[in-house]
Amino acid sequence: MSYQFDDGYPSDLEAKRDILEVGRRMYAKNFVASNDGNISCKVSDRTLWCTPTGVSKGYMTDEMLVLMDLDGNVLRGSWKPSSEMKMHLRVYNENPSVRAVVHAHPPVSTSFAIAGIPLNRAILTEAVMGIGEIPLAPYAMPGTQEVPDSIAPFVKTHNGCLLANHGALTWGSNVMEAWMRMESVEYYATVSMYTGNIIGQANELTCEQVDRLIERRKNSGITTGGRPLCRECSEKDTCRFSSCRSGGDSGRSQPEKERECCCGHHSSEEDEVAQIVRSVIEQMRRR
Ligand SMILES: [Zn+2]
Repeated sequence: MSYQFDDGYPSDLEAKRDILEVGRRMYAKNFVASNDGNISCKVSDRTLWCTPTGVSKGYMTDEMLVLMDLDGNVLRGSWKPSSEMKMHLRVYNENPSVRAVVHAHPPVSTSFAIAGIPLNRAILTEAVMGIGEIPLAPYAMPGTQEVPDSIAPFVKTHNGCLLANHGALTWGSNVMEAWMRMESVEYYATVSMYTGNIIGQANELTCEQVDRLIERRKNSGITTGGRPLCRECSEKDTCRFSSCRSGGDSGRSQPEKERECCCGHHSSEEDEVAQIVRSVIEQMRRR
């Protein structure tokens, strides 16, 4: 995406245009209900445009948008910015190369966030190459400092994260990239759901396949995204690639680390749930 000015920042007009467009897409795709969600876009090293609170993101107009500085002071606009903007500001303050942030509550990603399951299995080539693993930020009380603190560890190393019991957050070098990452996260979550409890099987990619996909991602200029868990790592913790172990661990939340299996998807608790689901399906079939 190229902008009018060559400093890499969009003009005010371009930033506002992209925010309104992503707001419409977000609402049309059912990624937000009611007045939920928020979008922001930097227009200089210290300033950014963001969405207001209390309005549907599908029906925003130009004059509703708010110009802020990185400390959270409103510089222009009469609408109130969302309290979730603290999370956006933290992303920008942690990683100056990020130029746009999108926050939504897409139903499948949010369900994974509620279940406490990060999107970290190498099952989808496009996801490995495009967004990498999507870690889970621990639960944080809305509106408090806990929220920005919960996402801070992932901002430099990943392209987005799930917010426990809340939703999803993605970032990128412009609004469209941050938005497309949000779409990719929801798609990754949807496929993970279908292949999880609904279909009941997913063939994870091998470590070598993951290595090659990550190489491709690096070649396309994306250095963030972490490393999803490959088949060897998932099966018996026998992965011979040390890069897999160390990388795969990077974005994991605390509860994940406590589980027995390195992949976090074969804990005894989850086996039990899978067993119950299977027996219910079996009984329904018999009727
Ligand atoms: Zn939210």
